[in-house]
Parts: sequence; structure tokens; C-alpha cells
Amino acid sequence: MSKRDYYEVLGVERNASEPELKKAFRRLAMKYHPDRNPGDPTAAEKFKEAKEAYEILADAQKRALYDQYGHAAFENGAGGRGGAGFGDMGDIFGDIFGDIFGAGHGRQQRRGADLRYILELDLEEAVFGVEKQIEIPTQVNCQHCNGSGSADGKTSTCPTCRGHGRVRMQNGIFSIQQACPRCGGSGRVIEKPCTHCHGEGRLEETRTLAVKVPAGVDNGDRIRLSGQGEAGPSGSPAGDLYVEVHVREHPIFQRDGTDLYCEVPIRFSQAALGAQLPVPTLEGEIPIAIPPETQTGQTFRLRGRGVKSVRNGRPGDLICRVVVETPVRLTKQQRELLEQLEASFAADQASEHTPRAKNWVDGVKQFWSRVTS
Ligand SMILES: [Zn+2]
Ligand SMILES: [Zn+2]
Repeated sequence: MSKRDYYEVLGVERNASEPELKKAFRRLAMKYHPDRNPGDPTAAEKFKEAKEAYEILADAQKRALYDQYGHAAFENGAGGRGGAGFGDMGDIFGDIFGDIFGAGHGRQQRRGADLRYILELDLEEAVFGVEKQIEIPTQVNCQHCNGSGSADGKTSTCPTCRGHGRVRMQNGIFSIQQACPRCGGSGRVIEKPCTHCHGEGRLEETRTLAVKVPAGVDNGDRIRLSGQGEAGPSGSPAGDLYVEVHVREHPIFQRDGTDLYCEVPIRFSQAALGAQLPVPTLEGEIPIAIPPETQTGQTFRLRGRGVKSVRNGRPGDLICRVVVETPVRLTKQQRELLEQLEASFAADQASEHTPRAKNWVDGVKQFWSRVTS
């Protein structure tokens, strides 16, 4: 795990003033203090992280070091101290400054960058799986020099670092080791650079890739294509490509894990009398029976009609929610029929036919009796 940036931890700008730092830290400390979150390891971790960030940034000297060298300024490396410059400053910086750039650990293994690609899918594509062609701007190995960057395939020892890959730099009073700027740390240089890639060993190219999206993927799922990221410099290994799935909104279905939800609008007469209705599923329409006296908001669960899990293939359910619609644009005849129906309800004990209104009327009565007593 790489360490988070201290400014990011505190949620402040890089030019934050001391009072701003203090305020940010206090806010986090109030939130994550172990006394307030007993037994919560995440909060304890957050508290520790914020405390460390504040301790460094609140100290002007440490902050200046951090701004210049990042976390490396405070890591205790295995190697010895840098150079002569450390002598007089040893007491203050010796321990924390130590081995800044990991000198003495040998050359770093270089590798191409990982890439992220956002793949937009329709719900159906995510549910059933799909193969997509994607175009990604990336770095590929130069074919002319096989990624070596050398026109004749030859390299020689870097004269600047004499093959060590690192050089000692004097920076004010500090002597520090850095990757060699001439050879980039590899210790080798090319005499005749390849004319196609100018010695880089790789070229920018838009690559077309076919991505197989497995059935059942969901928003935010990532598909890793190993070795399909950027080519590494001078023929070193390529990074990975992460294809992140974004699922577009669907006009009918909403998805929650493997369950699907949909709304089914019905007429109030169907709701009262009961009805046989076609409802949409991912595999086409199927009929469901709505029983008499169905109320708006009632749900019907169709088992196994949801999405098959990408992990174990088990399907979720489809949950249909009935919404009773008030009829509009009535014909003369429909209006007359409704007037007759309304007169019949009013003549009868109207509340017997409307359970929700009955509860409501009773509730209002009780409320008034409490208020006036
Ligand atoms: Zn060099
Ligand atoms: Zn080349």
C-alpha cells in the first residue's frame, strides 16, 4: 500500500496556513478519536494517519522537507547516511532523513504504467455479457528496435553514473542520491538511437482491443487485462489495463445487486377486480396474476427472473411494484359510469371500501381528541 499524501489526509490545499491545518486536524480528530469509536479499527487507523500528517505539516521544517521529497523524507532506509553534508545536521535529520531514495537497494525494476478505461454498457450487455472493441491511446513497443531503443541493438555503460544507475547530487547542505538523469537508472546508454522511437523503445499508438465482458457484471466492476497497459521503457514489462464497467440507466429496470426492480402501472379498475398482466423481464414478457383489491405500491416477486451473479451464476429476483393510475381523458360514458360508482360508494358506508382512508379518518379523530382534551 502506498502512503496517502499528507495534505490529502487532512483535506487541505498545499498552501494551507497553520490555523487551517489545525482546524482540519481537529475536525478529523473529533471524528475518529478512539475514545469516540471504541473497538473500531478503521477509525483508529484514520486517527493515526491524521495525527501523523498533522505532526509533520505543523512543523515548518518537516513540512518543507515533505514538500520537497514527499514521504521519502521520513523513511528510515536500510542504507547508511547520504554524504558528508549530513555530518552537522545528523542530530536533527539523520534518523528521519536516512536513505532518501533507496540508494544501495540496487536498480529499480521499471514497468509500463497501468491504464484505466471506462466502458459504458447497456443493462442488457452487463447482464448477458458482451464482447466490445475498445480503442485506447497507449504506448507500444517499437517494432523497429524490438523495444530496445537502439538502432543497432547495442548499448554501452553509462558514462555519467559508470553503470551504477544512481548519482550523488549536492542539494544545498544535503548530499542525496538520485536516479541517473542520463540513463534513467538503467546504467546503460544507447549509442545509436532508433530513428523511429528516438531511443525511447516505445511509440504512442491507439490500440484496438477486444474485451470479453462476462455476464452479470455490475457498475464499478473492473476487468483486468494483464500486460495490456503501456509498454515499459526500453523493453521492460508492460503495465496492466483495467476496464471499469459503467452501466447506463435503463428505462424500465433498476438493478440492486442481482435483483431487478420495475414499476407496473395498472388501471384502478384492474386493481379492484384483479387482472392478468404481461410484465417485462429480461427474457421477454411473462403474464402475472394481480389479485383483486391490490393496492398501489404492492410488490410481486418473480423468483429467478433477476440477474445471474457474475460470481456463482445464481439468479436474483425481479420485483414488480404496482402503481394504480387515476384515469384521464374520460369519455362521456366512462364519466357517467364513474359518477354512478361514486354515488354508490357515498350511499354505502364509503370507508368500508377504502382501507387507507378509514385508517386515516380514525387517526385524525384520535389526534383531535388528544389535542382538545
Ligand atoms: Zn547513468
Ligand atoms: Zn525504436
